[in-house]
Amino acid sequence: MPTMTTKFARLPGDAMLPADYGPGTGGADTMTDPGDNVDVLIAGGGFAGLTLAIALRQALGPSFSVVVADPMLAGSHTDDERASAIVAAARRLLETIGVWQAVAGEAQPILDMVVTDSRLDDAMRPIFLTFTGDIEPGEPFAHMIENRLLIDALGSKAREVGVALRTAAVAAFTYALPEGQSRQPGDRREAPPAHHVEIALADGAKLSAGLLVAADGARSSIRERAGIATHGWNYAQSAIVTNVGHERDHHGRAEEHFLPAGPFAILPLKGRRSSIVWTEETHEAQRIAALPDESFHAELERRFKLHLGEIKAEGARRVHPLGFFVARAFIAERVALVGDAAHVIHPIAGQGLNMGLKDVAALAEVVVDAVRLGLDPGAADVLERYQRWRRFDTMSMGFATDSLNRLFSNRSAMLRAVRDIGLGIVERLPQLKSLFIREAAGLVGEVPKLLRGKAL
Ligand SMILES: Cc1cc2nc3c(=O)[nH]c(=O)nc-3n(C[C@H](O)[C@H](O)[C@H](O)COP(=O)(O)OP(=O)(O)OC[C@H]3O[C@@H](n4cnc5c(N)ncnc54)[C@H](O)[C@@H]3O)c2cc1C
Repeated sequence: MPTMTTKFARLPGDAMLPADYGPGTGGADTMTDPGDNVDVLIAGGGFAGLTLAIALRQALGPSFSVVVADPMLAGSHTDDERASAIVAAARRLLETIGVWQAVAGEAQPILDMVVTDSRLDDAMRPIFLTFTGDIEPGEPFAHMIENRLLIDALGSKAREVGVALRTAAVAAFTYALPEGQSRQPGDRREAPPAHHVEIALADGAKLSAGLLVAADGARSSIRERAGIATHGWNYAQSAIVTNVGHERDHHGRAEEHFLPAGPFAILPLKGRRSSIVWTEETHEAQRIAALPDESFHAELERRFKLHLGEIKAEGARRVHPLGFFVARAFIAERVALVGDAAHVIHPIAGQGLNMGLKDVAALAEVVVDAVRLGLDPGAADVLERYQRWRRFDTMSMGFATDSLNRLFSNRSAMLRAVRDIGLGIVERLPQLKSLFIREAAGLVGEVPKLLRGKAL
């Protein structure tokens, strides 16, 4: 179904096209090249951007044109050695759009999880909290998957369903008004609403779209250009991320060791390997990551311990500075923010990408509903519905992870006693534990259809 935007086909340079021109109306090859006038342009071909593009194309068919622009689409992601915990709801989404099937064989289910709270060199690490079992019979609470495998599978599916991929960054955008006028984003003067967004790519190409989605990551230039501020703060912490091979099987167990400098997480990968997310104060993280192999190994072993036998760090060590911010608005005129462009949280609970996929599921649902009703998917009331759906939930999760980090990343003996009593109480209350785990799996609240495993 052609959307409102296809009726206002004014190309940059002011060449008017016939009013019925548009993706899917015969004006362009809709499978690969939708022309310059598209329904949705997504800036950013990371997890959030590609997932959204696939979901929209699958639900709305070839008459709905979706372009993803990102210079990273030109290369492969083989240098990203990170892995992510994909919770049950996000896995259902990926399965519904036919992507999970391509990586399922490489994904490691998390079968149980232990949480400890101790000082760095304590001989014993008492276990305060354990989580076992499935969210539903046969459905683990989360899986670990290497980022490059997932992003490659998303890229292949996007091509298969006819998403047009452009290997250039979005450099700028302006609003197109009636009568050939235009307005800069952030210009607050009285002006008629824009009927589409004119987008300039870094390779010189110009496109117009009814909706521009910012999936361009934490340093989103689209968010900035749209004049959307963020609130939040940097932590004095950074995460060292690396993979570790070990002698014994992990049996699908994830471990979160709360140490005074921050959490040290051991997350199971396929085979006898685990992904490490190791939080330290930033200067210490940089010092440790720069150590020669032998000294690095010694620091790693002090924290990892020997319960899985001999260990060996594999591949690159990367240091990620950590922060927390939420965008003050998730939308602007004909613009929607998803994923890290809208929020960045502490990786303490492995929820950042999962939250981004929740944005994607909610935005896809409101856009698809609007288009099926013959409405303009970039209209303010459509985007408002998305914002209402996601902003409050994001704030709650952001503050929860922030509080968790503050509660655990400190050396106070009193706080330690208090939190250990709290963990002990949760451990003894199976119903409370089950609620926590369903919340972490993304299955509590008003869950978008795709996260419930239902196609749009
Ligand atoms: C140490 C660490 C561990 C983590 N572990 C987990 C975990 O276990 N589970 C989890 O859910 N989350 C985790 N996260 C968070 C997760 O990695 C991010 O939330 C996720 O990668 C964000 O995806 P995204 O698609 O929103 O953004 P990104 O992955 O940042 O993608 C943004 C894309 O936009 C492109 N881009 C930038 N500017 C432009 C432009 N102007 N035009 C076009 N394209 C542009 C970039 O090239 C990039 O490809 C972790 C984060 C850290 C730091």
